[in-house]
Amino acid sequence: MVKMKDNSQSLTKNHEDLKFKDPVLVTKPLLPDLEKYNEYLERIWDKQWLTNNGPIVNEFKEKLKSKLKSDHVEVFSNGHSALEIAIQSLNLKGDVITTPFTFASTTHAITLNNLNPIFCDINRENYNIDVSLIEELITDDTSAILPVHVFGNPCDLKKIDKIAKKHDLKVIYDAAHCFGVEFDGIPISQFGDISMFSFHATKVFNSIEGGALTFNDSDLILKLKALKNFGITPEVETVDYIGQNAKMNEFEAAMGICNLELIGHAIEMRKNIYELYENNFKEVSAIKTIKIDPKVKSNYAYFTILLDSNQQRDFLFKKLHQSNVFVKKYFYPSANEFPVYNYDLNLSVSKKVSDCILSLPIYPDLSLDTVNKISELIILFLNEFEKFNV
Ligand SMILES: *Cc1c(COP(=O)(O)O)cnc(C)c1O
Repeated sequence: MVKMKDNSQSLTKNHEDLKFKDPVLVTKPLLPDLEKYNEYLERIWDKQWLTNNGPIVNEFKEKLKSKLKSDHVEVFSNGHSALEIAIQSLNLKGDVITTPFTFASTTHAITLNNLNPIFCDINRENYNIDVSLIEELITDDTSAILPVHVFGNPCDLKKIDKIAKKHDLKVIYDAAHCFGVEFDGIPISQFGDISMFSFHATKVFNSIEGGALTFNDSDLILKLKALKNFGITPEVETVDYIGQNAKMNEFEAAMGICNLELIGHAIEMRKNIYELYENNFKEVSAIKTIKIDPKVKSNYAYFTILLDSNQQRDFLFKKLHQSNVFVKKYFYPSANEFPVYNYDLNLSVSKKVSDCILSLPIYPDLSLDTVNKISELIILFLNEFEKFNV
């Protein structure tokens, strides 16, 4: 049973009063001023260069190197292709230890490379891979670990690094949620062999669609460039790999450059929203939020609440949708339960978290009034649930 502070006052309110007239979505894309974007469109029209390693893509890449604080950055048409190519570039074999609590892309990127995803359960604090369970999954067939920095909270980087070194494994981080995140003053791009960042429209930072890899080994530069362009090695024009088409175009890079100017302010606005939600729920025992590690410079990519039970989560989901608040079950279900994988494994924490989690609206221009109103609705509906489910 949930325990709640006295909210009898809000219980007396009419639900219709609290329903939003206009839908509140879980996220909204960061968009620059149209005039600013138009300047880039004019450049594209002048040059008549739309894709294939164009000047705006190169300008974007240079800016990303300083933003992500990495000497080596390659940009791609999307984060998923970047991740697939990252895996392909490392010539892995056999098994890859990964997390079940992620977006479908992570698991598919492993499987599409003809490797086996080996699911390791997650921790209860920030829902990242449980590092204490990794070693028991390592066999002679294991070639890499592919953890996800879920919701922008870094994994236990030092522990993963130690395990990888000890067993001679590669580490690829799915850092799709991690744009601009640092740990202990070190940019997240500095950890592991390769990190993948997604610039999809729904992410903290976007280039419409898009993604990037950061990496430390300069030997990978030419290979990654080839793999995103049909395996063709630039300059010499031979085909050295079986590559795909995953090139970023000029329009996407232009959006990325424009949005880079806004991202600092956007993250500050997200922080205000995140902290307000956190404060609104701090006395609500039915709601568990993720505590951001004080060593982490966060990007406040998502605000999630973990409920006590699946019934409570689904009740809240339904009620909020009826009130025009389009919260998301994210991630749900746990990847091992996707019908295409359907691995019968006992990953109890991942199951519990995916059954009980809700992602709440958070984007830079979401008003604090709206955040308060959403919080109030949630508390009201939780009280209602408790009333009928004692
Ligand atoms: C968004 C996302 C991806 C895929 O990125 P795209 O740019 O949409 O292809 C991969 N992993 C995670 C965890 C994501 O959230």
